[in-house]
Amino acid sequence: MIPLLFQLSLPPSIVPPDVVQQAATLRDLALSRTGAIEIVQSLTDGVGPRLSGSEGAQAARAWALSTLASLGFQNVHAEAVVEPRWERGVEEAEILSPRQRLVVTALGGSPPTPPGGLQGKVVGVADLESLRVLLAGDPAAVRGRIVFFTERMERTRDGSGYGRAVAMRSQGAKAVSAAGGLAVLIRSVGTSSSRLPHTGAMQTDGPVVPAAAVSAPDADLLERLLPRGISVRLSLGCRVRPDAPSANIVGELKGTGEEVVLLGAHLDSWDLGQGALDDGAGVGIILDAARILRSSSHPLRRTVRVVLFANEENGSRGGQGYALAHAAEAPVHASALEMDLGADPVYGFASLTGPEGRAATDAIFELLKPLGVTERAEGGESGADVSPLIPLGVPMLSLRQDASRYFDFHHSADDTLDKIDPRNMQQAVAAVVAVTAVVADMPGTLGRVPPQKPRSE
Ligand SMILES: [Zn+2]
Repeated sequence: MIPLLFQLSLPPSIVPPDVVQQAATLRDLALSRTGAIEIVQSLTDGVGPRLSGSEGAQAARAWALSTLASLGFQNVHAEAVVEPRWERGVEEAEILSPRQRLVVTALGGSPPTPPGGLQGKVVGVADLESLRVLLAGDPAAVRGRIVFFTERMERTRDGSGYGRAVAMRSQGAKAVSAAGGLAVLIRSVGTSSSRLPHTGAMQTDGPVVPAAAVSAPDADLLERLLPRGISVRLSLGCRVRPDAPSANIVGELKGTGEEVVLLGAHLDSWDLGQGALDDGAGVGIILDAARILRSSSHPLRRTVRVVLFANEENGSRGGQGYALAHAAEAPVHASALEMDLGADPVYGFASLTGPEGRAATDAIFELLKPLGVTERAEGGESGADVSPLIPLGVPMLSLRQDASRYFDFHHSADDTLDKIDPRNMQQAVAAVVAVTAVVADMPGTLGRVPPQKPRSE
């Protein structure tokens, strides 16, 4: 029973039984199919890597336009944004004595080293805080040196180890530049013991030094040799090019009303692998989910809008551009959900809604339980591309995927199609279908998100 007082002050959005029934039917239909893997394979085999500003990114936009059309989406179009362009070049590093090769990869946005490379003594620090403490004791401690960040990313189901370890990758090159250092090496932000390094973006909104990630076994080697005092030679041929034209690719399943339910994933990827997990899987999951929603017995109340965002990896220009272009339309966005954590099963559901959305999100959680979803949270966690919609009041729904294995491959040459288990991925499709079938067809709304405290990144 819902207390009378609550009903009077804030009418909750009760989900009618027929909407629940239809969501369950479509959810089970999704589980019986294997459509998502075919979409990911089409993208990764047919296009491959698609770094912002590259030919691959352009080919991916063409792929998305034709794929959305062939899957039967309506109103398929591109919405222009401009994105940064950065190109990888030669990347080599070696310890000078004992002479040993290091497997490295430049961080996205890194400037090149001088031609022929640079060479310097290595100073090891655990993380940004250790660097700060070191510099407080001796402001010249890293002057003319290569700073090596040794922090190890912790393997966790919720992927939270990434958020902690990634700070050295994002900010290390700025901090070391400010301290007069020569270059940065980081232990790859990843969880495997593979000799493949993991790239990723670094902040370039200020002076930076050349920066590269070292594979985990080579990071171990460097750490063991640090007490001896070692020098490294580093050669990076990467370069920043002028910004390039790009676009978010959009398609819709038209609903009977004015409101929109947004399903997002990002189309760009890093250049080392195929971007199968990051974020080909998200693209496959949301497109297959939307396709299955077309099997509903009647047109849905709300339009399901799929958005394949540009440039999530190194600039977020797609997500920012969408929020800017659609700000006036934000009030008709009933919800947004983004898939960007690989292809493994969903175990949790989180929601950020107005108070009147509580009953509906409870009903959604009940529909997710048969899929093995056991955790329920309230909060603003959401994909990088949809989070710019939070300040505009758009409710966020998020499906937490098991990220235990994800960071073994993420941003490395190992991000390839074989890492996806099609049945696991289809469970995630079924979860997206269950969520979306409810929010796109219930008579009530999830309300609006109240103003948030700024999130600390
Ligand atoms: Zn991603």
